[in-house]
Amino acid sequence: MKSICPECKNEIDLSRYPSVREGMIIECNHCGITLLAKKIEGEILTTEIVDEGK
Ligand SMILES: [Zn+2]
Repeated sequence: MKSICPECKNEIDLSRYPSVREGMIIECNHCGITLLAKKIEGEILTTEIVDEGK
């Protein structure tokens, strides 16, 4: 599984999330932003930034 951080554009280390699925909250190991696992298509995980300011 691969995922690119929408904030810093680095590849997120998903080894910390062995059972990642849609709806899970993960954290970018590069910039530390909180992300929601939005969609899994094949080996690509799409995420969106969780706005914690609300
Ligand atoms: Zn990032």
